[in-house]
Amino acid sequence: AAPQTQAHTADLATEADRLLTGLGVSRASYTEGTLAVQTPITGKIVGKVREVSAADAAVLIAKAHAAFQVWRLVPAPKRGELVRLFGEELRANKQALGRLVSIEVGKIASEGLGEVQEMIDICDFAVGLSRQLYGLTIATERGEHRMMESWHPLGVTGIISAFNFPVAVWAWNAALALVCGNSIVWKPSEKTPLTALATQALFDRALTRFTKEGGRAPAGLAALLIGGRDLGELLVDHAKVPLVSATGSTAMGRAVGPRLAKRFARAILELGGNNAAIVAPTADLDLTLRGVAFAAMGTAGQRCTTLRRLFVHESVYDSFVPRLKRAYASVAVGSPLEAGTLVGPLIDGAAYRAMQGALEAAKAAGAAIHGGERIAVEGAADAHYVRPALVEIAAQTGPVEQETFAPILYVMKYSDLDAVLELHNAVPQGLSSSIFTNDLREAETFLSARGSDCGIANVNIGPSGAEIGGAFGGEKETGGGRESGSDAWKAYMRRATNTINYGRTLPLAQGVKFDV
Ligand code: NAD
Repeated sequence: AAPQTQAHTADLATEADRLLTGLGVSRASYTEGTLAVQTPITGKIVGKVREVSAADAAVLIAKAHAAFQVWRLVPAPKRGELVRLFGEELRANKQALGRLVSIEVGKIASEGLGEVQEMIDICDFAVGLSRQLYGLTIATERGEHRMMESWHPLGVTGIISAFNFPVAVWAWNAALALVCGNSIVWKPSEKTPLTALATQALFDRALTRFTKEGGRAPAGLAALLIGGRDLGELLVDHAKVPLVSATGSTAMGRAVGPRLAKRFARAILELGGNNAAIVAPTADLDLTLRGVAFAAMGTAGQRCTTLRRLFVHESVYDSFVPRLKRAYASVAVGSPLEAGTLVGPLIDGAAYRAMQGALEAAKAAGAAIHGGERIAVEGAADAHYVRPALVEIAAQTGPVEQETFAPILYVMKYSDLDAVLELHNAVPQGLSSSIFTNDLREAETFLSARGSDCGIANVNIGPSGAEIGGAFGGEKETGGGRESGSDAWKAYMRRATNTINYGRTLPLAQGVKFDV
């Protein structure tokens, strides 16, 4: 496909306004505030959102705590009904919310819609889960006793989210937290308050319907704190918030983690990744090309799971890498609202400068850089479009060891699997990983205890694009948290071990005697 530099001429502020009012957001909340929202598509301002003051945030958190005390008593399957109704609102408004994601974050249409689909998927999962919050019964050494574990609601769940999945990450946390019996307080990215307002409006509609149908949803169950890092800090430090799920950069996690630990609150940290793939001698190169292209260039390299390091076996390097370079040179970059575009803009100028800084460092280290230049898009002089960069580099040093949140793929040659596994795991981050191979031994070794050290390890698909059924998260500087599927729900509840004596004697454990 030819590079796409056609201007998107529609007035995005007008369109955002139409979408927001259609989704039920009051106009004053996004026109009369102080927080300016830029669309990365043109770099122009599309809203001025009202921020929440620290005093109001404290009131909202206190209300959420009061709401929790009521919500925890509502039977879990009934709590699931609220999430089911929210899923219906999302289904009915998928096009509008998906389009708003595209306008606010610059995602191409299918990815904007995909983000909303992910919200719908987690709602479905959580509805089922609301009838499956199960504990164990455990064999006890004492006669006429029963031992079991119960899972109880935990309290207010704080959710801090990043710009790049402005609404899906909230939904992952919110849907689980709500069926688990918690109330929720959300501090979205200050770069994406419009989609947060729209999501909250849809949730409020579901709440209204829930109440109309006889459900018992306390006021203050789901609060939204629009504003900057200070509001995130307030949430992190609040004594009535026993769990904060924070998604963002490792720098953010480094600040948030110790603050939560100081007051013994729980943390789910979902931080930066530096994801790699290995292209082995037996890889299906057609499939690999598609897998690598989507994982490395999709979302303009702005996914936590974006492929950033590629290790290509020396036996396929010369047949594979030139094909990949051609894909990089020809991928359609431009307005995400134009059909055919695969790579939209970077979120802002800071992201562009970080990308150029990394490329300069790679160049200084002797790398060969293909692409990475800014692309002019008519009518979007304030936006930051770039051709994705493919960087051939000899060693994993300098910028290769860091996450630069932009479309840069560092390509390195390898000859030995053991050595490449060591390199693969030698970076500080541990989110997602893949191997492309048709060799069973290599595939299983990659997935084994001495293989990838990441929270996500795949075979013959790229590292990005997770489904909600699996637990999502990573190790090391990625923070160790798990969200979404599998048994990630357990982090949102407290576990109690219960022992019940249904006999007439009182045997003590471990044979202890204490007769008074
Ligand atoms: P960011 O760290 O700049 O901001 C994320 C959120 O944290 C924002 O809401 C921000 O206001 C808040 N915040 C920042 N400092 C804080 C502090 N000290 N206390 C409380 N809150 C604070 O991240 P970003 O630029 O919005 O997002 C990109 C980053 O997020 C990348 O590093 C990416 O890998 C990561 N990310 C990780 C995952 C994951 O699941 N592992 C998912 C998406 C994004």
